[in-house]
Amino acid sequence: METLKIKRKVSARIPTDEAEFMLHLYHSNLDSKEHLALVLGQVESPSDVLVRVHSECFTGDVLGSNRCDCGEQLLCAKQQIADAGSGILIYLRQEGRGIGLLDKLHAYNLQDRGYDTVDANLLLGHQADERDYAVAALILKDLGVKSIRLLTNNPQKIDRLQELGICVVERVPVEPTINDENATYITTKVERMNHLLDIGISSGAAGK
Ligand SMILES: [Zn+2]
Repeated sequence: METLKIKRKVSARIPTDEAEFMLHLYHSNLDSKEHLALVLGQVESPSDVLVRVHSECFTGDVLGSNRCDCGEQLLCAKQQIADAGSGILIYLRQEGRGIGLLDKLHAYNLQDRGYDTVDANLLLGHQADERDYAVAALILKDLGVKSIRLLTNNPQKIDRLQELGICVVERVPVEPTINDENATYITTKVERMNHLLDIGISSGAAGK
C-alpha cells in the first residue's frame, strides 16, 4: 500500500471574534479530502502546544445538531486556544466517526428506533469508530510541533497519536453540555468507548 503523505497547499489569514488565526489547507495522497489546521500564534516552540484534533461533523459543526456534542467541542476548542494565545485546531475530514454522512444519517434513524450509537454503526457493517489520526500526526510534524497538550475526552485518540510519534504531555478535558437529545450518545461514549467524562451527577438526563 502507498505510504501516506500530506502536502500543504495554501495558508490564509482567518480573523475571528476570538483571535486571528492562520488556516493551512493540506492534501493527502490517499484521499481527495481537504484536511485543515487552524493555527494561532507561534507553535514551533519545543513543547506543550494546545491542540484539538477534531473530526468533521456536518450536523453538529454546521447545523448545531443536539444529537452530539461536536459543534460545542469545536467552538470550545477554538475559544480555549484563543484564551491560551496559541494552539492548533486540526479539522479532519472523516465525517461520522469515519463512516461518512450517508451512513451516519442511516445510523441516526436506527438510533431513533432504539439502537445506541455503537450498535447502529455495527448494524450498518462498520466499526464503532473508524477514525484515523495519521493525517493529524503528519500535520503536527509539518507544523514543527514537538509535544502537545491534547483537548479530548477520548483516550484512544491519545494512544493512537502517541503510536504515530506525537508526544502527548497532558490531556485537557472537554466538558459537554448534556441535553435530552445527546444524553444517550454521551453516556454510550463513556460506557462503551471509554471516554473520560464525569457525567454521573451533572444531569438526570444522562441516565436515560
Ligand atoms: Zn457530531
